[in-house]
Amino acid sequence: MSKFWSPFVKQLVPYVPGEQPKLTNLVKLNTNENPYGPSPLALEAMRAEINDTLRLYPDPNGDRLKQAVAAFYGVQPAQVFVGNGSDEVLAHIFHGLFQQERPLLFPDISYSFYPVYCGLYGIAFEQVPLDEAYQIDPHAYAKPNGGIIFPNPNAPTGCLVALETIEAIVQASPDSVVVVDEAYIDFGGETAIGLVDRYPNLLVTQTLSKSRSLAGLRVGLAVGHPDLIEALERVKNSFNSYPLDRIALAGATAAFEDRAWFEQTRNAVIDSREQLTMALQQRGFEVLPSGANFIFARHPERDAAEIAAQLRERSVIVRHFKQPRIAQFLRITIGTPEQNQALLDAL
Ligand code: PMP
Repeated sequence: MSKFWSPFVKQLVPYVPGEQPKLTNLVKLNTNENPYGPSPLALEAMRAEINDTLRLYPDPNGDRLKQAVAAFYGVQPAQVFVGNGSDEVLAHIFHGLFQQERPLLFPDISYSFYPVYCGLYGIAFEQVPLDEAYQIDPHAYAKPNGGIIFPNPNAPTGCLVALETIEAIVQASPDSVVVVDEAYIDFGGETAIGLVDRYPNLLVTQTLSKSRSLAGLRVGLAVGHPDLIEALERVKNSFNSYPLDRIALAGATAAFEDRAWFEQTRNAVIDSREQLTMALQQRGFEVLPSGANFIFARHPERDAAEIAAQLRERSVIVRHFKQPRIAQFLRITIGTPEQNQALLDAL
């Protein structure tokens, strides 16, 4: 705290990301990164971009990337917004669409950045409890609101919401924006992007950090009705004209164009998830059904914080949340088969 801070800054409660340790010999299963590298074609495109043209500003609209995303999903480029990681895309959504009279609704167990953005932008919110099985109950969202947001699959549970459930939530709140945060959708779920032409209040966000293995590049996107996208462009162009640099635009575009690498690596993660789930169940863990590149697991007789601490002593790091309802769970990112075996050996 300093006397130079504004009253606004003094009351901010920032998000705390998972640890990025400086040690390199750790089996790092704590921040849901992809264990396989990015597309070789994306790496090549980025290398080619490192030249004299870096003296020039990048395309402020990211048109080529928007075209690649639009082609991938069969939508129009005017339905696509791109930003510096989906966190930035989400920030613009909170700023531009969720500052409403009524409170924003999101699950009680969900991505912990949502309440942080509410604090940053002065948005009232209400947390809607997941049911006993940690699932989203669509009926609980059918009440007056200033917007709705939830991840699908949810984080940190990994549980998927069926498209019919999403449709029911969107239909029950036709006068507010419903955002489906699909950071992990490519590991087993079906995207809601196919619904955006029918529902002008539906906005879907995605990231290249997970299934395209580009967490270090910081690229995210949103797909929805052009009116919603225009709101995000207005906020973005009032904040930073060039959130994506030349290298990021080239790499992200090539990553979207390389379907083969995308399919191969996401299927490898999905296979490993099924194997790790079975191996943990054999060791007595309860594992929630996951559609993500991580699993959420608890042991009936072992304290989760204690397991996490003991794993760390054996150079394996996983994520533990000291939060009501989930304090006995561990969130474990799916690694390579070798990393997953190291986790099992340590357990
Ligand atoms: N949404 C969810 C649910 C996440 O878990 C994350 C990753 N922390 C993000 C969005 C943001 O990802 P990124 O900013 O890397 O696109």
